[in-house]
Amino acid sequence: MHILVSNDDGYNARGLEALVDSLRDLAEITVVAPEVNHSGASNSLTLTRPLSVRHAPNGFMYVNGTPSDCVHVAMTGLLDIRPDLVLSGINNGANMGDDTLYSGTVAAAAEGFLFGVPSIAFSLVERGWAHLDAAVAQARKLVERQLSQPLVPTMLLNVNFPDLPADQIKGMRTTRLGKRHPSQPVIRSATPYGDTVYWIGPVGDVHDATHGTDFDAINQGYVSITPLRLDLTHHNHIAGVSDWMGPLCSA
Ligand code: MN
Repeated sequence: MHILVSNDDGYNARGLEALVDSLRDLAEITVVAPEVNHSGASNSLTLTRPLSVRHAPNGFMYVNGTPSDCVHVAMTGLLDIRPDLVLSGINNGANMGDDTLYSGTVAAAAEGFLFGVPSIAFSLVERGWAHLDAAVAQARKLVERQLSQPLVPTMLLNVNFPDLPADQIKGMRTTRLGKRHPSQPVIRSATPYGDTVYWIGPVGDVHDATHGTDFDAINQGYVSITPLRLDLTHHNHIAGVSDWMGPLCSA
């Protein structure tokens, strides 16, 4: 068994190191992760310059690119063999609801899934690693399950861990993505030279945390597991768009 691991927080992030350390006895592990933090990178690929792959003293490889770059390069030539599983994380912060569209953590896993490999994105909902050990133990359970009894069909899973010690995590739940309100306002600041600059504001408040959502599972003290799809087609509306276009268009 061979597992490719990446993340978006960078190759020296604690969540990545802890995850890898906990899985070493289960499989051969290759880490290809970004050199620096690319949280919020989504599925971006670097197409305007070449990418360098360097080796850290601990055996991890790091790339001066995005999370998607890392997995893409690994899958298309850097690795000699095709991994049985691609993992991303454990991320420093939640990736629930609409976060998944922006997440570099989810994107690294999505890149593996696009190449037909089962892939799982892991995120710990609160920053600061207070309960990283508990999250790692839960992640290991999922990986053991996947390696011993692979999920059919091949799937992309988005997993979030509650910020709780091991003895307070109630279990795991399968969920759908909830929703957030739009992001909070941009934060205006000034450079020493008098230019106005803008920080993208924090995420919005939760809008849909009803039963069955990832937010609800986390609020109730469960690990949230959401199966994701990457086909953005809104199948129910293909005919409606055609009707709207009238004689100019046919479904
Ligand atoms: Mn991150």
